[in-house]
Amino acid sequence: MKPRILIVEDEEALNLLLRYNLESEGFAVDVVERGDEAETRVSEHPPDLIVLDWMLPGVSGIEICRRLRAKDETKGIPILMLTARGEETERVRGLSTGADDYVVKPFSLPELLARVQALLRRSNPDQVAKVLKAGEIELDREKKRVHRSGRELHLGPTEFRLLEFLMTSPGRVFSREQLLDQVWGRETYIDERTVDVHVGRLRKVLSRGRELDPIRTVRGSGYSFNERFSETN
Ligand code: CA
Repeated sequence: MKPRILIVEDEEALNLLLRYNLESEGFAVDVVERGDEAETRVSEHPPDLIVLDWMLPGVSGIEICRRLRAKDETKGIPILMLTARGEETERVRGLSTGADDYVVKPFSLPELLARVQALLRRSNPDQVAKVLKAGEIELDREKKRVHRSGRELHLGPTEFRLLEFLMTSPGRVFSREQLLDQVWGRETYIDERTVDVHVGRLRKVLSRGRELDPIRTVRGSGYSFNERFSETN
C-alpha cells in the first residue's frame, strides 16, 4: 500500500506543487487548507506523515502539532513543518514543537522530498525502498551506490540523483524542465541543455560494451527510464 501523506497548507499554489510531486514519488496525498480541518482528517484517514504549515487559518500549525502529540493514536505520526523564512525559523528552533523536522520556505523540492523519505524511513523502515532494482541495475539510496551486474558504477552526485529519480518512476517520461525541478531544485536557473549533458554522462557510466541503455530519449519530450530494458536482451 502507498504511504499516505496529509498536507496541511493554505497556499493553493504550494498545495498543488506538493501534491503533484509527492504523488509522482508514489505517495497517496490528501490536502486540507484549514488548521481546524486537520485534526478531523487525521482521525478519519490516519496518514503516515503530515506536512504541516505553521501559519494557517483556523488553528495554527504549532497548535495542531501540540494536539496530535497529546493523543496516543496520533503522537507517533511524523510531522514535517513548513515555516516562512525569518519570522518563524528561530521560534521553531527554540520551541519544542513536537515536529520531527522542518523546512523553511522557499524550499527546494528535492530537499523536501528527501526529508519526507528520511522521516518515513525512521518511522517505518520497510515503507520506503532502500534499494531500487531494475534488471541488472541496483541503486542503493542509503549507501549511494549503484551496481550493474555486480560491478560498481561510479556516478557523480548529480548523475546519481538523476538515475534515482528516473528509477522511482520507471516508464514515465519527464521533460528537461521537470528534471531540472526535481533533480536540481526549483531555485536553480540553469540551461535545459545541462540535463542532456548529465544524461550523457550517466549513460556512459551505466552501459558499457553491448549492455543495453536503460534510458530512453523521447524526441520532443524528454527522458524516461525504460523498465523493460533488460527484457529485450
Ligand atoms: Ca500559510
